[in-house]
Amino acid sequence: MGKIAIIGGGAAGYFLAANLGKELGKDTVIFEQAQMPLQKVRISGGGRCNVTHACFDPLDLVEFYPRGKKELLSVFYQFQPGDTMAWYDDRGVELKIEDDNRIFPVSNSSMSIIECLLKEVEKNKVRVNFSDGVKSINKVEDGFEIETASGIHRFENVVVTTGSTPKFWKIIKNLGHKIISPVPSLFTFNCKDPRIEGLMGISFDQVDVKIKSEKLESEGPLLITHWGFSGPGILRLSAWGALALNERGYKFDAEINFIQQSKEDVIELLNSKKNQDAKKSIYKYNPFDFPKRFWVSILQYCKINENLVFADLSKKQIEQIAKELTAAEYSINGKSTFKDEFVTAGGVDLKEVNFQTMESKLVSNLFFAGEVLNIDAITGGFNFQACWSEAYIISNKLKEIY
Ligand SMILES: Cc1cc2nc3c(=O)[nH]c(=O)nc-3n(C[C@H](O)[C@H](O)[C@H](O)COP(=O)(O)OP(=O)(O)OC[C@H]3O[C@@H](n4cnc5c(N)ncnc54)[C@H](O)[C@@H]3O)c2cc1C
Repeated sequence: MGKIAIIGGGAAGYFLAANLGKELGKDTVIFEQAQMPLQKVRISGGGRCNVTHACFDPLDLVEFYPRGKKELLSVFYQFQPGDTMAWYDDRGVELKIEDDNRIFPVSNSSMSIIECLLKEVEKNKVRVNFSDGVKSINKVEDGFEIETASGIHRFENVVVTTGSTPKFWKIIKNLGHKIISPVPSLFTFNCKDPRIEGLMGISFDQVDVKIKSEKLESEGPLLITHWGFSGPGILRLSAWGALALNERGYKFDAEINFIQQSKEDVIELLNSKKNQDAKKSIYKYNPFDFPKRFWVSILQYCKINENLVFADLSKKQIEQIAKELTAAEYSINGKSTFKDEFVTAGGVDLKEVNFQTMESKLVSNLFFAGEVLNIDAITGGFNFQACWSEAYIISNKLKEIY
């Protein structure tokens, strides 16, 4: 009987195998259904692999996880982004922190991460069975019986790192676990509206976005796309609202404050322009930091005559402009995938996992790590960080057992 079966050769599975050491490694097999491992790592971060995020306090770090926030705290106290950086650095992979705190290999290539993981797994003498997908798992008295394409295998411990694969969630369900139904997380908002028509490519440094019906709000950069709204401020909201917005069929109203100022402040500013810039053309002079094309679009939407100067602005018109900039309502109708980064909320119910060890509370010697769990984060390297940390904890527990 083998000691450890790792099911799934992705980020979590390989990081675990890379941390087992030679003693355990030689009694470990990775079963991977594809012909090659680490496919998602290869395409991650636009081919650059956003390995982790420069956020080194677990209390701050968990705030980036709409699902898993509470459970990951103890996990990050054991292994956090600083440990990830040290781990790769010790193995010769130089990492760099970019301005927005995302961390990438200095090489700007995910191959640096892949080659490092492949080397460590090989060093530990872990066998990898490619094209050997797992079809079923049975708990037997002294371990597990695993049925794969190549036959029946027996192991004392099973670690499931199959990512978000509905087929495998069924197998886990058969072992007695509850699976939270998967729904998309991290998506952009579809919106057809005259105020943003033809303005694709215009971005705002920092906006507030609210979905009042769900009591959701977030802030961050916003980008107007040809289908609606994107950017970190929107993606964050999509992740936190993944379940609620799915229930609404992705039809809801979003309120946007494009300039993070109060309506009163904007009214005051426009009133001051009535005196200071009385003779200036409203259409030609944009008193705000955002691109002029958006200013013109808002003026047109408010039906303000092109020939007016600031002195002509009425109280009602000033109020209307102020509302459009600070509390504009947009009807969202549908969602789109952010680049190719489809992340799924849903998976193994967190209540049934012991986060000190990542072991199942229902089936002993069964472990979970990575996207197979009901854990997901916003973009920025957080999804990989959860994989690295959870896998690291399992490696410690397994070393403790033997
Ligand atoms: C385009 C894209 C870009 C991304 N970029 C980033 C990024 O830059 N930073 C970041 O933090 N996150 C990123 N993510 C998210 C990140 O890739 C995932 O969170 C992470 O890969 C999850 O790792 P995992 O090991 O849990 O699952 P996976 O990487 O999905 O690996 C699961 C493995 O299990 C195998 N498998 C499935 N079923 C079976 C079976 N029955 N038997 C055997 N093997 C099986 C699969 O073939 C696969 O190899 C990105 C995601 C996408 C889609």
